[in-house]
This record gives sequence, C-alpha cells and structure tokens, in this order.
Amino acid sequence: MSELFSRGGFAVGRLYFGMFFGLKERRRRQLRAQLFPKDWLKLIERDVPFFHRLSANDQVELMGHIQVFLAEKRFEGCNGLEITDEIRLTIAAQACLLLLHRKTDYFPRLLTILVYPSIYVAEEERPIEGPVWEEGASLRQGETGRTLGAMVLAWDAVKSGAADSSDGKNLVLHEFAHQLDYENDAADGAPALATRDQRLSWREVMRIEFASLRAADETGIPTLLDTYGATNPAEFFAVLTEAFFERPYALRGHHPKMYTELRRYFLQDPIEYSDERMKSS
Ligand SMILES: [Zn+2]
Repeated sequence: MSELFSRGGFAVGRLYFGMFFGLKERRRRQLRAQLFPKDWLKLIERDVPFFHRLSANDQVELMGHIQVFLAEKRFEGCNGLEITDEIRLTIAAQACLLLLHRKTDYFPRLLTILVYPSIYVAEEERPIEGPVWEEGASLRQGETGRTLGAMVLAWDAVKSGAADSSDGKNLVLHEFAHQLDYENDAADGAPALATRDQRLSWREVMRIEFASLRAADETGIPTLLDTYGATNPAEFFAVLTEAFFERPYALRGHHPKMYTELRRYFLQDPIEYSDERMKSS
C-alpha cells in the first residue's frame, strides 16, 4: 500500500482504497441479505428480550447487522469456556443494537472477543506516585481498549445483562460504547458525531453533566447514573449508553438535554421499545 503512495500515486492509492471499501461493503450487503438461521432466531428470542419489542423493520435490520458482526469478529473462549452460538448471538444482538439506523463500519478497531465463564483476574500496573508503579491484580467482568483490537467479557455478566433490559446495567452495551468512542480515534467520551453543531452541543451538554456527576459522587448525593461514570469522560459515555438503552424514561426525565444528544447520535429512541415502565408500574 505504501508503495502505491511512494510512486506519487495518490489517485491510484485512492482508487485502491475505494475498491477495498467497495468490496467490503458489497460483502456486507450480501451477508445482511442472507437468510437468518431459524435456530439463531430462537436463541435470540429466548435470551435477548428487547428483541421482541423492536419494530419488525428494526428486527430485520438487527438480524442483518448480526450476520455481518458474526462473520467479521473472532470469538475465543477462555478458562475452558467453549464458544457456542448462544454466546455469540447474545453478544452480537446486544452490540448491534447500538448500530441500528446509522451508517456503520461495525466496530472497526475490534477483531477478537475473548469470553471468560465468569469474573476474571486481570494483571495490571497501577500508578502509586509520580513515576512509581506497582504490579497488582484486579477482578473484572469486562474490558476493551483503543489499540487492543480485543474485548474481554464475562459470560455470566453478558447473560444477566441481556436478561434484564431495564436495570440500567449492561456489560455488552458498556464495552461496545467504548468501541464507538474510539471510532474518531480518541477515547474522550465523544463518539463520531455527524456535524459541527452536534459536536459543539454534545461537548457543552456533556461537560456540564459530567461535572455534576463528579460533584454528586464526591458529596455522596444519589444519582440515576452509576457513579463509575465519574471516573473519566470515556467511562461517562459508556455508563450513559447503558442508561439510555435501559432506563430511557428516567434518563429523559432527569437529564432531558443529555437524552436529546444521545437520541441524535444513536438515531433511535429506546422509549419506543423499552420495558422500563412495565417493570416499575
Ligand atoms: Zn468502561
């Protein structure tokens, strides 16, 4: 690829990229149009309850995205876990909910999904003071990173997150929100927004809301959002995404401006298919 550019072939390079993306898009169109296996549908209907509440069009769109997702991402079982269709589909269906209605490149930085049976131990280095770090271990149920090319998920947390779609907690939505955040190259809590106006308004609304979550966390005031979101703007966006899809009524009521920003970015309104009200009434 670099050779094409070094010959001064910018136009050739562009053509090469155009062909590559054209082919990729064509393959994705074919995958989306394939018949969705009946036993896959049964598994989704059983394990991912929000699926029933989506409109018929959204169900079809979601199934198309799942076909692409499963063809492109690699799954690996860890600690003896054997990857099954149930595992692949429960992860894919929740991740692809984030893609509905939008032009998408299917989480381009993510190649491999590692799945542990349950909470796992991760080795880490922690800063103590200045340039001094200590080595330690922590228990985790999921993680991903901008340059890792991978995501780690604990299967029991994936499954319980899918089973209760209105408790505001969802590991898959959380970790895949991080992947969306990386699409514009920075892990800064702002995903790739369509227009300059949208970017400005997002930045202003989120700056104020993040500061207020931080203040609430420090003073112990109860909040709708999990205060883990006060860690940094990237975690704030991930926690917010969980709340947007799982507690849309509450989020719209408490934080209407933030709800509007999220609705404009995700191009969907989870209130239309939420079971939050049914459960709380
Ligand atoms: Zn996170």
